[in-house]
Amino acid sequence: MTLVFATHNANKLKEIQALMPKHIQLKSLTDIGCTEEIVEDADTIEGNALIKARYVKQKYGYDCFGDDTGLEVEALNGEPGVYSARYAGEHKNAADNTAKLLNNLKEKDNRNARFKTVIALCLGEKELVFEGICKGVITTSVSGDGGFGYDPVFMPEGHALTFAEMPLSEKNKISHRGRATQKLLEYLQELT
Ligand code: IMP
Repeated sequence: MTLVFATHNANKLKEIQALMPKHIQLKSLTDIGCTEEIVEDADTIEGNALIKARYVKQKYGYDCFGDDTGLEVEALNGEPGVYSARYAGEHKNAADNTAKLLNNLKEKDNRNARFKTVIALCLGEKELVFEGICKGVITTSVSGDGGFGYDPVFMPEGHALTFAEMPLSEKNKISHRGRATQKLLEYLQELT
């Protein structure tokens, strides 16, 4: 069975292919000749994940899943949420996004936040959604040089290190993306 992962990121694809049941062959957008940009203009994380999966299913005919992630901060009414990648502007710079976040939380005692990943799967006539949440707090300054995005300011619940200070294997065990991926894999394992 062939399944498209709606990403151009070869590393993401390789990581997930290694976890897939043997009968599933993953392909990237590049592999199927989809070089155009898929416009992710929904106002929810789930909406953007669905846009990607539906686009591939409708235009190319392949079963497909797409993912989208956002950081939801309690004291900012859920911001940056679906706008996480471009919080500080369309140049999508992680250091600028993080600096803006710390600045907006400067006077706030409530530092609670959560990462949310949604994976949307279009399989035959079916559409399914798998969600992964990781709760934590936003630190008051950056720590660590691993990871990406908001990792240097996100400390997951029950841990004393930010995501950027953890080995990737540790992060994957507890992360939003790891949890959503696990749910997708469990579903796919059950298909014969
Ligand atoms: P995407 O949907 O995976 O492209 O994620 C959207 C944005 O959320 C990224 O540009 C990052 O800023 C942020 N983000 C997603 N996943 C993570 C993560 O695991 N750690 C830190 N930031 C993340």
